[in-house]
Amino acid sequence: MTTPLNFLPGPITVRDEVRHAIHQTAISHRSTDFGDLLVDTKRRLCELTGAGYVEILLGSGTLANDMVAAQLSRHSGPGLILSNGEFGDRLIDHARRFGLCARTLAINWGTAFQPSQIEAMFRQQPDTRWLWAVHCETSTGMLNDLTMLKTLCGRRQAALHIDSISSIGTVPVHLPGVTLATGVSGKGLGAYPGLAFVFYHRTMTPSCSLPRYLDLGLYTKYGGVPFTHSSNLVTALHASLQRLYPAARYDSIAEQSAWLRAELASLGFHMVAPKEHATPAVITIALPESLNAASVGDELAEAGCLVSYQSDYLLKRNWIQICLMGEYTRPMLDALMLLMRRYRRLRPPVSDSHLFANRS
Ligand SMILES: *Cc1c(COP(=O)(O)O)cnc(C)c1O
Repeated sequence: MTTPLNFLPGPITVRDEVRHAIHQTAISHRSTDFGDLLVDTKRRLCELTGAGYVEILLGSGTLANDMVAAQLSRHSGPGLILSNGEFGDRLIDHARRFGLCARTLAINWGTAFQPSQIEAMFRQQPDTRWLWAVHCETSTGMLNDLTMLKTLCGRRQAALHIDSISSIGTVPVHLPGVTLATGVSGKGLGAYPGLAFVFYHRTMTPSCSLPRYLDLGLYTKYGGVPFTHSSNLVTALHASLQRLYPAARYDSIAEQSAWLRAELASLGFHMVAPKEHATPAVITIALPESLNAASVGDELAEAGCLVSYQSDYLLKRNWIQICLMGEYTRPMLDALMLLMRRYRRLRPPVSDSHLFANRS
């Protein structure tokens, strides 16, 4: 059996060097070698994003977002959380569980935030101290406008917090102007899942009222290693970062994505994110009623192409996703499109607005 073509948002297919790196003998997280490895890994992450500092945690992206919620709980003023998809909804849930004082601006999935909507929220609550939003909304494939959020927050002196988990490594992400931002090893950065990042710009102090594992300040205090770490995961991430050429990578993802979107559109598929707000690395397709996302996903997997469809929020809306988080060649994309042709729509596309599962 040949390895399937992987169009998942993660885990992605890693390079041989990265696979080799994870199998090296584990070293102590207290050793100088690990310290040096961690320093160089952090340096590369900061260089990629323009962040001042980063901490590398053992866990998935949800852990990093919980750490952001923990820091927000130290804020005295109220905040604002934006959502136009599953991951924005999750930020709202993170906040609720932490008992944060926040208002929410939740708009229909697949629609873009207008600056006027956010400004209106700021006007209604002039003492808003922070804003929390998702950069790349992985559920719909929308890329929310980070520059616009920076401008609006700058004007109001509100601290901007960003979930950049699926944007880092796939599109340029500039974190200056962002107070805290999150990322992971297993999506756009080409390594294994298991490491999560919190990027920040000024040194943090520990807080004895936070759970130990969620206290970003403890990481600062103990040189990034307050607890046991995994040299295997960090070595693999480092190997991937060493081979990451950001500009070339962003260009190739953008080009491949534009080609795929055009091909899919010509077959009559409806893509959830409008072109001008779409992230190149995630193409979410709203299937017509005549097709079933689970069956299509199963059939594509059977034929050797893994697409994303098994998440609850995708199945519920009859959506499938083609992701470009790994590395792809034109023959791989051709193979996928050959399979997608089986599902071409026979009728010309009608207005697809009814296909959106709007929030209740
Ligand atoms: C993947 C992802 C997360 C985190 O999910 P985990 O399953 O914990 O890795 C959070 N936000 C976004 C936008 C994501 O794409």
